[in-house]
Amino acid sequence: MKLLIMGPPGAGKGTQAKILAQKFNLVHLSTGDILRKEIDKASKTGLKAQTYMNAGNLVPDKVLLAMMNSTLTELKDHGVILDGFPRTIPQAMGLSKIFQSLNQTIDGIINIEVDKDVLINRLVERAKNSGRADDTEEVIINRQNVYSELTAPLIEFYQSDIITIDGDGSIEKVTERILKRIH
Ligand code: ADP
Repeated sequence: MKLLIMGPPGAGKGTQAKILAQKFNLVHLSTGDILRKEIDKASKTGLKAQTYMNAGNLVPDKVLLAMMNSTLTELKDHGVILDGFPRTIPQAMGLSKIFQSLNQTIDGIINIEVDKDVLINRLVERAKNSGRADDTEEVIINRQNVYSELTAPLIEFYQSDIITIDGDGSIEKVTERILKRIH
């Protein structure tokens, strides 16, 4: 099973992706987590990604596509849930090529929706303990703007294939809403 989970920063996609991964025995692929590990290792990819990430901008599509091509090829025999990828239309087109070359398709796309005010509040709260360099108020606002400009168009791109989930409420409530829709 190949699932995508989308939503603006702060929507809770990472949290829900972890829960779904455990429940359905999927590998949770968070591109944000993978990139942060690359930065810690000071790898080539990490060095390329760092300045973009710290400013709350997207890492170039080429970097992400190369990284995900090798990761998804390696994991071709596993179920996966993609969290934070694709984040642009060119990434979505690249992803469909990757899956085509592996003879695979996307089985479900979950989009978690939350109001912008709620998101900024959540992220400012999370920032107090996250230790992430991109969790300052200025960068948080930039990440929301980048989302609206570059990632939100994916909703139209995937259109009717999307399962829309209301992300306002407790973690358990949101999980329950997802599970009701993906059987
Ligand atoms: P959030 O969704 O809370 O903003 P993530 O951990 O998913 O956090 O992503 C953190 C940062 O990693 C993004 O702001 C971006 O710089 C980079 N990143 C993650 N995924 C991608 C992607 N698919 N394309 C480009 N950049 C990405």
